[in-house]
Amino acid sequence: MRIGFGYDVHPFAEGRPLILGGIQIPWDRGLLGHSDADVLLHAMMDALLGAAALGDIGTHFPDTDPRYKNISSLRLLRQVRDKLEQAGFACHNMDCTLLAEAPKIKPYIPAMTGCVSQALGIEENRISIKATTNEKMGFVGREEGMAAYAVCSISTLGGDKDE
Ligand code: MG
Repeated sequence: MRIGFGYDVHPFAEGRPLILGGIQIPWDRGLLGHSDADVLLHAMMDALLGAAALGDIGTHFPDTDPRYKNISSLRLLRQVRDKLEQAGFACHNMDCTLLAEAPKIKPYIPAMTGCVSQALGIEENRISIKATTNEKMGFVGREEGMAAYAVCSISTLGGDKDE
């Protein structure tokens, strides 16, 4: 068993859809990024890659590569799952926290959990998505952007051969 940690941040931008946890949330702004800027899934991907010591999403999906322009981060999460499987690992559980002053995230968490569950091929009860405001402090509190933290555990496919 191994654990991994991921962190990501994206600024808000006008005229962008707000995509979080693989779903579109109605809001007057979205997050700016080369892909769909899904800050929550990016933190999850870095946690998974970190647990497997496979680098980070910037290594695997460079933001200079036009193939990843506006790409759905759910597709990238699915590719990260494949990379872990090729390295002999599977995600055991994922726990993450989204920092967002607004909008209210709670109503969308079940749909996000379903998306992540499908992308990772694990049961919904192994995925925990939480959200908090930043109590109006800092860049999150001023509604300049959002941040996300994720931790996960991964296990060796077919038993703990390397433990
Ligand atoms: Mg990112």
